[in-house]
Amino acid sequence: MAHAHPDRNWFAVRQAGQKSAVSSSRRRFLKNSALAGGGVLLGAAGVNAVSPLIWREPLHLDLNGSYWARSQPPQNAPLTTDLNVDVAVLGGGLTGLSAAYFIRRVSPQKSVAVLEAMGCGNGASGRNGAMVLTMTADRYMNFSASPAMDKQIYDLTAGNVGFLSTLGGATGIDCELDTHGALQVFTNTEGAAAARDYVRRANSIGMPVEYWDAKKVTDAIGAAVYTGGFFDPSGGQVHPMRLVHAFKIAAQTAGATIYEGTRVDSIEEGRQIVLRTAAGRTVRARSLVLASNAFTPNLGLLRNSVVPIREFVAMTRPLSDAQLADIGWRSGVPFNDARNETFYLGLTRDRRIHIGGGGPRYDFDNGGGKAGDARVHVAQLQRELARLFPTLAGMEFEIDWNGVVDWSLDASPSVGRTGKNGNIFYGLGYSGHGVNLTSVFGRIIADLEAGNDAAWKHYPFYNASLDYVPNEPFRWLAAEVGFAWYKLTES
Ligand SMILES: Cc1cc2nc3c(=O)[nH]c(=O)nc-3n(C[C@H](O)[C@H](O)[C@H](O)COP(=O)(O)OP(=O)(O)OC[C@H]3O[C@@H](n4cnc5c(N)ncnc54)[C@H](O)[C@@H]3O)c2cc1C
Repeated sequence: MAHAHPDRNWFAVRQAGQKSAVSSSRRRFLKNSALAGGGVLLGAAGVNAVSPLIWREPLHLDLNGSYWARSQPPQNAPLTTDLNVDVAVLGGGLTGLSAAYFIRRVSPQKSVAVLEAMGCGNGASGRNGAMVLTMTADRYMNFSASPAMDKQIYDLTAGNVGFLSTLGGATGIDCELDTHGALQVFTNTEGAAAARDYVRRANSIGMPVEYWDAKKVTDAIGAAVYTGGFFDPSGGQVHPMRLVHAFKIAAQTAGATIYEGTRVDSIEEGRQIVLRTAAGRTVRARSLVLASNAFTPNLGLLRNSVVPIREFVAMTRPLSDAQLADIGWRSGVPFNDARNETFYLGLTRDRRIHIGGGGPRYDFDNGGGKAGDARVHVAQLQRELARLFPTLAGMEFEIDWNGVVDWSLDASPSVGRTGKNGNIFYGLGYSGHGVNLTSVFGRIIADLEAGNDAAWKHYPFYNASLDYVPNEPFRWLAAEVGFAWYKLTES
């Protein structure tokens, strides 16, 4: 599928032979993978077109077992009556909650109901790697054909980090947000050299990012295995579930009603959209915000836009003073490396280290399969932790978890409207870069829902049509090939 916007030529640039470490962003895994090529080739036989009729893609929502979930706010009651609202929001993650908040701010006369199948934050929003990042995944440390637009997106997303900083005060929830920056580190000299070049250009157009040499990286994070780093002073880290909690309070205070334990099983399009819940309730709405993220394809809408990739995270017990001094992570700044199978690490306020990433997984049936045995993934995280901080070798994790990420094929996101009547609004394709971007998109969704598209039309993610993701079983097959390819080509 063609790229919708001339700015998004990054895929083509990569195909022209850029080194992976040069333009690699955090957890950018599937871009130009065999997923597009292999899957569509196989699908060309025609089976791809009919496969949705043959292969069911059941919705499987597992319980959030993360460390962050220990701070999950008390759950609201489910929907027990039929409902008529102006706007229904499907999904109580950061996209849905922020959209509900901003819609009430932009259109206070409209009634807004959020319908969340489990508890708010049960999805990626409450079980992620906690890094607060600027930009979009496809443009992180990577210029597009329009550096002026890259700068605009930098300013937009950095500005949103400022907005997140105000949420704690406004809602009384300490989100443990630290905005002391985020670091991307490199494992080879080409990556470090590319970071230096990128920073030179970025500084020339006013982006305040920094290049750190190997010594500065080691001084900041302790680990002595990297060749250099790209530091973004506008990034940071957060307690993901507390951020969800803050948005939940903000949305409710602004007048939205949130129903939890309320799964939507079907969507009927029309001027009045009709949603039917698993408990047999009907919700009629003039607008629908589809904030179901990686689970969206299972609802039958935007089904060829994203691939739900499962990632793994683990966390230590609180470290002692001596252990902390030994590892030398003086800055406390979160970091990720730029490998295909990328790792990302953070240090919590109660001195735990969390490490995520490594080999991801695609579960057949659009993430509907069971997570299966996590041991192999957790063992990989343990090996990496010991490699970075040898004094922690042998340390057992206290907890580990996993969750699905909504990957688009070239890691570019999309926010816009869809449906026969143009009254379904969505934001997705964050590609592992959504902790900050979700509420940028929540704000945009509120404007689009009110008919105010003008301010957003020139952004590449506005109504961007994402590269085509084939149906099952081609999606599974191609994901397997893509993962194998990236393992083989890991630098
Ligand atoms: C392991 C992991 C690590 C990550 N690390 C980072 C990171 O460090 N930094 C970063 O920026 N991003 C990271 N991400 C990505 C980021 O967490 C997501 O982009 C973001 O949280 C997406 O938010 P969302 O609201 O769109 O989706 P979600 O939080 O997934 O919310 C979707 C909600 O919809 C609900 N839902 C689905 N179907 C239905 C239905 N039929 N009826 C009702 N409700 C339904 C789900 O229960 C869920 O609560 C990570 C993601 C994962 C999984």
